[in-house]
Amino acid sequence: MRPQKPLPTDPPTPGEVARQTARFRALIAKPTRERLRSLVAACHRQLEQTVEAHPPRQTVACRMGCDHCCHLYVSATAPELLAIAEHVAAWPPERRDALRSRLADALPATRGLSPVERVGLGLPCPMLEGGLCGIYPVRPLGCRAYASFDAAACERSTRERDARAQIPVPKINMRSRRLLSHCLRAALADRGLDGNSYELIEGLSRVLETPDADARWAAGEGVLAGVRTDS
Ligand code: SF4
Ligand code: SF4
Repeated sequence: MRPQKPLPTDPPTPGEVARQTARFRALIAKPTRERLRSLVAACHRQLEQTVEAHPPRQTVACRMGCDHCCHLYVSATAPELLAIAEHVAAWPPERRDALRSRLADALPATRGLSPVERVGLGLPCPMLEGGLCGIYPVRPLGCRAYASFDAAACERSTRERDARAQIPVPKINMRSRRLLSHCLRAALADRGLDGNSYELIEGLSRVLETPDADARWAAGEGVLAGVRTDS
């Protein structure tokens, strides 16, 4: 068995928050497409490294093809949405069109819903392709951090559309997600950029339909205006 490292303090200390925010801020001295991608990659890498450094004693139940958690409200920052759009742009046209079509079908039902209402809908994420995440390499921080010790609890929550169901998520995942999301958004705001976290389906639809979305978002155009944000 791997030695257990003590869990870092939760909530994180102000010093840790300041250091992580400064690291993210340094990556986007100029909000070019390349730097925005580096920021997203650094954030996702940091999550993975932290989780790997603190393996839980219990076995995580997550397995490929287990997609009960892909029926929940998901949000992503603008740089994450832009990274997903770039990933999708490299797909063959039929695959891209199929995603656009699933997004268009899901949008009227999901637009503006709260996380609780979204679970109540019981609708799968349009990014799913045959039970697998089609955007796995660039999935948002929230999806990356989500994990469970109990797949049956996840299944029950989805089947019963119950947002209050208790899902046993590893503490380090929750702590890392909160910390990294906070610092990512703070770093963007410090640079005078939009630090909001947007609902995934409408946010991605908007970015996909906006030509030159990276440059227009970085220039302060309201590419995502009106899309539901996390508070
Ligand atoms: S979080 Fe739950 S539903 Fe998602 S992969 Fe893990 S066990 Fe399966
Ligand atoms: S983006 Fe991928 S991982 Fe996240 S909810 Fe959708 S299908 Fe699941």
